[in-house]
Amino acid sequence: MIRLILSIVTLLLCLLPAATPGTPPEVAVVVQADEVFSPQAWQAMEAESKRIARQAGLRIRFVERSQAAAEEFTDLVVFRMKGRCEMDTLPALLDERGPFAWAFTADGNVLPFGEVKCDRVRESIKTALRPADYRKADELFGRALGRVVAHELYHMIANTKKHGKSGVAKDALSAQQLISDKLDFSNHERVALEGKRDFGR
Ligand SMILES: [Zn+2]
Repeated sequence: MIRLILSIVTLLLCLLPAATPGTPPEVAVVVQADEVFSPQAWQAMEAESKRIARQAGLRIRFVERSQAAAEEFTDLVVFRMKGRCEMDTLPALLDERGPFAWAFTADGNVLPFGEVKCDRVRESIKTALRPADYRKADELFGRALGRVVAHELYHMIANTKKHGKSGVAKDALSAQQLISDKLDFSNHERVALEGKRDFGR
């Protein structure tokens, strides 16, 4: 009898909707890559962005542009990845300058559209890679891209052009910060983002 009750309870629990009140809505990050994108770099990018977003109570999911048409989203942001998103063993091009990425703005609002310059990020982190790091170069490149994406997500979701004093939302991230073991949102940005959980509603 107890077994029967237990299995009914289990069944009922399974029938409950997965999203319980208090669960933040999921933001789909649609990624359109212009050129080659290393699968290892993609995986590491997604994992790092997710990890950072989770700290601010945000749930994100990456979707490739080609697959996005077949899905429906409640909230989404779009990133176009320009250049080659794959590591190479060529010497660093030191004339690569300018921002790693940006979010488009209109009428003072930050729009959910951004661009990431893969070539710029790749050349930057080469200056911080040690010879031993080249074995996992694409993974580190992906980690760097994940931090750059998280930075722009902060601008988009908090709808602010401002930067943090430290952490991922800092105005300029060094090559070392892009690949270091850990880089998180500072508390200030976490609080700002938690107030925007209902992004897009
Ligand atoms: Zn910024």
